[in-house]
Amino acid sequence: MVGIDFDRLVEDMTAWRRDLHAHPEFGFEEQRTASFVAAKLREFGLDEVVEGVGGTGVVGRLKRGSGNRAIALRADMDALRIPEQVEQSYRSTRPGTMHACGHDGHTAMLLGAAKMLAEGGGFDGTVCFIFQPAEEWGKGALAMLDDGLMERFPFDEIYGLHNMPGLPVGRFETRVGAIMSAEDNFEIVLKGVGGHAARPHWGNETLVAACATVVNLQTIVSRRLSPTDIGVVSVTELLTDGTRNALPGLSRILGDARSFRPEVSAKIEAETRVIAKGTADAYGCEVEVSYTREFVPLINDPALTGHAFAAAQAVFGPENVATAAEPMTGSEDFARFLEHVPGCFVFIGNGETSAPLHNPRYDFNDDALIFGARYHAEITRQRLAPTEPRP
Ligand SMILES: [Zn+2]
Ligand SMILES: [Zn+2]
Repeated sequence: MVGIDFDRLVEDMTAWRRDLHAHPEFGFEEQRTASFVAAKLREFGLDEVVEGVGGTGVVGRLKRGSGNRAIALRADMDALRIPEQVEQSYRSTRPGTMHACGHDGHTAMLLGAAKMLAEGGGFDGTVCFIFQPAEEWGKGALAMLDDGLMERFPFDEIYGLHNMPGLPVGRFETRVGAIMSAEDNFEIVLKGVGGHAARPHWGNETLVAACATVVNLQTIVSRRLSPTDIGVVSVTELLTDGTRNALPGLSRILGDARSFRPEVSAKIEAETRVIAKGTADAYGCEVEVSYTREFVPLINDPALTGHAFAAAQAVFGPENVATAAEPMTGSEDFARFLEHVPGCFVFIGNGETSAPLHNPRYDFNDDALIFGARYHAEITRQRLAPTEPRP
């Protein structure tokens, strides 16, 4: 293994991260980002660099030795439609769009790992560097998988990470099993007969029925789920076609549900349908319910999470590795890859003073870059350790 100039690597990664930060691109629009990533991977001398996988996704492949095993390391590239309030020299040049989730940092860290592994080697097998589009939509991983990711670039296991505001830089945490939740969306449409606000009895307006439905939905978690199951049901919008002096004939209720087990998601859907139908019947309205699954729960494989801890201890130091992180009710598109191969997703500190994710004042902390890059490289070297002594 050739020695790496870490100071130089940090300088490079910081420059890449700030360049990406200044040019944020929304999901499936990451053309510039993808070209940037592909050009760097080619410059590092990877064996294969393929663009346009699942829209704007990029896959790089690096092979060393004769081993048949392959692992994948994944980063996300997309930004958010949030107007930035950061006043740095590298602030977004695209009004209304910013890297508010740190995917600029994730991309720079994985590029850093690719450079380390291409220059330094120290493994036997194949590494697939996956740069996915559209993580925030929960659509980019599926797009890559539907484009034949597993068949074209086969791998046995996959690793990913996310920065974590509030956690000090240089700290690492994850857990075995469910760590991030499923996200389901629902829409309930109530139809009745609108009319004059002064004469409700001449029609059958839908707003009171909609309000009763919103209240009744609150009983799913409190009265239908087991107290030991985690579930969240949030009604986020109530829209009607009424005006100040006219009652609505149409009301739409939109919402979002989170859970960690498919059985809980199924229960929330079933109860949402029962409550919507029962409440609509009680008020004499017609009702239509649609329920969709946007993100699946993220379940860390027990054995591979053990390997992630081992790699993290080498990079962060054992005292900085927490093995029992709290599960989070946020969602992550990485979970889709885990429907095909086992893997592990982890969090690394973005600093205690970091603004929260998806906040207009959020900025990725460049001090975290080297930890992420070294972690990616370390897990590769541990998982694809050469079996014979190197000369
Ligand atoms: Zn995000
Ligand atoms: Zn994110």
